[in-house]
Amino acid sequence: AKSAGRNKTAVFDADMLAELKHRRLIERELRAAILLNELDVHYQPISGPDGKLVAVEALLRWQSPSRGNISPARFIPIAESTALIDQLGEWVLRRALSDARELPDLRISVNVSANQLKRDDVVDMVARVLAETGHAPSRLTLELTESAAIQTTPDICRRLQALRDMGIRIALDDFGTGFSGFDYLRHLPVDCIKIDRSYIARLGGSETDNVFVSALASLANSMRLSVVAEGIETERQMLLARAAGCTLFQGYHLAKPMPKADLLRSFDHEIRQCA
Ligand code: C2E
Ligand code: MG
Ligand code: MG
Ligand code: MG
Repeated sequence: AKSAGRNKTAVFDADMLAELKHRRLIERELRAAILLNELDVHYQPISGPDGKLVAVEALLRWQSPSRGNISPARFIPIAESTALIDQLGEWVLRRALSDARELPDLRISVNVSANQLKRDDVVDMVARVLAETGHAPSRLTLELTESAAIQTTPDICRRLQALRDMGIRIALDDFGTGFSGFDYLRHLPVDCIKIDRSYIARLGGSETDNVFVSALASLANSMRLSVVAEGIETERQMLLARAAGCTLFQGYHLAKPMPKADLLRSFDHEIRQCA
């Protein structure tokens, strides 16, 4: 039993080592990808209850010539474990806000990593990119995952507040997965919650699931927060999310994330109507 235990440890260590090496490799390639123009930003529509386009979420894409498409769910955590996330975060923001010049009147959501908020100069960085691109702060939402938001320090809270004071909106992403409790919602400077798609996927499954989304939405609505239902994949989920009190809707059923050119083509009418 003793030797089996030792073997297990050896295998585990070998796996960890391989994973670590792989992460280092990805990190190096990602650093190069920024310079080699392998990164792109796709946009996923966010609609109001009437289905009208009101915002888009910017989502980072990495097309590696050797590896193909690499999911941000894979490479963002790697970037977050290094200073690379700051560079990447600034790159995405600049690209998204430049692209937004062609999307008049649409709000644009950009994901930020909690690690970016650990830097004192993050507020200056956002202000600088807004000024450079001429984007109105009121048309920008920064999305922060709930699990990251739980770990906020007084410094991070102060930075979030400074961003809000500029007119930027703050959304809590993947809400319901971080189990922050509700008390903290009262203290954190936020404007919007995005109910995680795992809850939306269970809508219609049982009465409890519906009640849970309704409770989250009504709490948020009563705090004057807007409520996005994430990951709507069916018309039925759309109806149930609307009935539960969600105010904004995002998911494959409405539209998948797409390149800017496709967005302009598909939503040409609505985008011009907004302008
Ligand atoms: P997120 O911010 O919660 O973004 C929503 C994710 O759900 C996106 O995955 C989107 O493609 C996917 N999604 C949207 N609708 C549906 C649906 O109906 N069904 C399903 N199954 N999925 C749907 P994506 O693009 O792979 O991004 C994954 C995560 O990576 C994002 O989750 C976000 O946390 C992170 N991420 C992406 N871009 C950035 C970025 O520029 N900066 C940072 N810090 N994180 C980013
Ligand atoms: Mg997001
Ligand atoms: Mg999300
Ligand atoms: Mg997510």
